[in-house]
Amino acid sequence: MSVQVTTQNAIDMNPDLLIGGQWRAGSRQSRIPVVDPATEAQVGSVSDADVADALAAVDAADVASAGWAATPARERCEILRKCFELIVRDAEALAHIISLENGKALRDARGEVAYAAEFFRWFSEEGVRAKGDLGMAPSGKNHILVQYQPIGISLLVTPWNFPAAMATRKIAPALAAGCTCILKPATATPLTAYAVAHILAEAGVPDGVVNVITTSTTGPVVSAILKDPRVRKLSFTGSTEVGRTLLREAAGQVINSSMELGGNAPFLVFEDADLDQAIEGAMVAKMRNGGEACTAANRFLVHRDVAEVFTERLVAAMSALAVGPGVEEATDCGALINPDAVLKVQELVDEAKSVGARVRCGGEVAQRTGFYYPPTVLDQMPVTAKMFHEEIFGPVAPVYVFDTEEEAIQLANDTEYGLVAYLYTQDTGRGLRISAKLEAGMVALNRGLVSDPAAPFGGVKQSGLGREGAQHGMLEFMEMKYIATSWGQ
Ligand code: NAD
Repeated sequence: MSVQVTTQNAIDMNPDLLIGGQWRAGSRQSRIPVVDPATEAQVGSVSDADVADALAAVDAADVASAGWAATPARERCEILRKCFELIVRDAEALAHIISLENGKALRDARGEVAYAAEFFRWFSEEGVRAKGDLGMAPSGKNHILVQYQPIGISLLVTPWNFPAAMATRKIAPALAAGCTCILKPATATPLTAYAVAHILAEAGVPDGVVNVITTSTTGPVVSAILKDPRVRKLSFTGSTEVGRTLLREAAGQVINSSMELGGNAPFLVFEDADLDQAIEGAMVAKMRNGGEACTAANRFLVHRDVAEVFTERLVAAMSALAVGPGVEEATDCGALINPDAVLKVQELVDEAKSVGARVRCGGEVAQRTGFYYPPTVLDQMPVTAKMFHEEIFGPVAPVYVFDTEEEAIQLANDTEYGLVAYLYTQDTGRGLRISAKLEAGMVALNRGLVSDPAAPFGGVKQSGLGREGAQHGMLEFMEMKYIATSWGQ
């Protein structure tokens, strides 16, 4: 089976590993199946790397490293620009492959491909603007010269929920900075990563600059790469739990680490909010990717005066969503990634019910093929419910009520996470004042979406370290070097 990309090029549904520009089978005989969450059927398979393959990928990144770092920025960035153009050319096929292996609705997948491509355009523009600093020491005796250099071989580990964008959000700045890399995509959604790698090769990314490996033994394979002293950077996107483990492992070699981890976003609706806007934003913040997003609104905190009308309108919007296979045009809400994800959502909803939550719509898993959970709204939510503290990662909107601004801020910040917060009020001064008090790396003020390649994406508290996108995303792949220099007066 293959999915057509262009007339010359088809997406390989059974790719091997990409190491040093060669597509080669993993050392293990077995292959890793890729399953369509909508049909539960296998749609492809990928090679299964062991530790020797992982170290071969480090060798390849090492061989390519000096040449890529020395390539003039303009030349590197023209290749990045070509990557953007080719992803846009192949957008439809990439969107289909994302829907097929991840389950998300095609319209979400199309949005993801556009977002993924933009990282190459943005960093093709940033890569030629890397600057240094020059200052005079206060003593007047020497100059302080600061240079930014590529940090070196980078390990990129990505999750299944945005199989294209989470990869390009790392690859594009790494390449713009002059680094070579090894991408380890999520085992559930590897086909998109390999399809992107094919496109990068076509765009002229030299052999060994981007290597891609998949494995059924993630822990040992990632550990082996992190123990190799040639590897200088870990950029991880995934759960906070795995992020903590990898930070501990990176500490062994004191590897510079960027972490994009889980979220528990509050969505605050004040009594003076424009409710049309708030409902529109709520549907984006909750239902992009069927709720499987780190940025997903996880707790709707609504002022008592507007709680019932907001909830009624949210129920109407959620109930109107068409649930079905992601690849069908009519689908609004696709399948979740796997049966465990459905079980986890179901358990969280059942637990919320047991402590007093009321189901306003959804709330029951339908008997059908595919890993589906229905769009669900809960109200009368007590803050003792487990889902107040945990990522739901599914199409469930719990509504909590507050009475005062102070209470809203206290509830919003009552979590170990701090990725994003959403806030609706028509009073801009109030909105900015509250934004400053929210413990989050990003605040969406009267908007349901923050993601933008030109903006610094990232969290505080246990949602992460560092930023992706903007000029900051490239600096994460650069090391600062200070040269004290005297050249006379
Ligand atoms: P995950 O942590 O289970 O896996 C992420 C990646 O880490 C995958 O490639 C996986 O194979 C790998 N991995 C898993 N265990 C590992 C181990 N022991 N050692 C090394 N690597 C390991 O996360 P997921 O389920 O794929 O993705 C969902 C999570 O990602 C959610 O928590 C979500 O909030 C988070 N996420 C965060 C952002 C962000 O930008 N902050 C974006 C997307 C997703």
